[in-house]
Amino acid sequence: MLILEASAETMATCRAWKRGGARVGFVPTMGYLHEGHISLVRIAKESCDKVVASIFVNPTQFGPNEDFARYPRDLKRDAAMCEAAGVDLLFVPPVEEIYPVGSATFVNVEGPITSTLCGASRPGHFRGVATVVAKLFGIVGPDVAVFGQKDAQQLLVIRRMTRDLFFPVEIVAGPIVRESDGLAMSSRNAYLGPDERAQATVLWRSLQEAARMFEGGERRAAKIVAKAREIIACSPLARPDYVELVDNETLLPVQGNIDGTALLALAVFFGKTRLIDNAVLQGKESQ
Ligand code: AMP
Repeated sequence: MLILEASAETMATCRAWKRGGARVGFVPTMGYLHEGHISLVRIAKESCDKVVASIFVNPTQFGPNEDFARYPRDLKRDAAMCEAAGVDLLFVPPVEEIYPVGSATFVNVEGPITSTLCGASRPGHFRGVATVVAKLFGIVGPDVAVFGQKDAQQLLVIRRMTRDLFFPVEIVAGPIVRESDGLAMSSRNAYLGPDERAQATVLWRSLQEAARMFEGGERRAAKIVAKAREIIACSPLARPDYVELVDNETLLPVQGNIDGTALLALAVFFGKTRLIDNAVLQGKESQ
């Protein structure tokens, strides 16, 4: 496995692969890898000849009071995991490679898909995400890029940007990978103290109960949200940021009854750690 820090060398390597007829898959990450990330590498490997992963803790997607400085990092372990998973090139640029002095271009995806949910709680977050992904697409030039459904809103933003900017990249979604007790895997789980970690299972329990209600025929959005909130409230350490039922494509809140497919999206603080999770409530009519 190649490990490269320079954009130019990464670009040259990927271009050479593509000239040789290889289909290139790409998995962008912020590192501190877990099985969720590796599942995306496996998906990329299914349809690609070469797989590039990146590790870049992107400063522009963090707010001033967020965890950029303390975001967990372990390049040695990450590299070993990537190599074992069959990554061909691990791109680990320093900040100056992605934002050289004088860089002045940012990508703004507008509308409810960036102003609701995490966009409301984290102003500027999706501008940072769209910008870095556009830059990484420019460097790697992938045929396929794989993103996790764990970050459902991010996935929609990337799909929108890719269409709007005519990037010749196929965006593929990977399912949420969970710990054995249901907690969605996340690099940020490492921040949780033992009590927080134990109580964080309320997120999965609330999503499961919501899915059960939906499968049982409940379509009143308010009822489902109330039940999800009630289960989260069983954890004294949980502080919800948002618990919302939204349209799966527009991310606008579902008013009244769910018609078709909806997304139940959660962001909940445990201490300073903000965890997100979601479930797609898929109506039979849209299956
Ligand atoms: P991150 O390193 O948190 O920026 O995540 C990098 C990619 O991995 C994103 O596309 C995430 O959606 C995806 N990802 C993170 N956690 C999971 C998970 N538990 N299951 C599946 N994909 C995930």
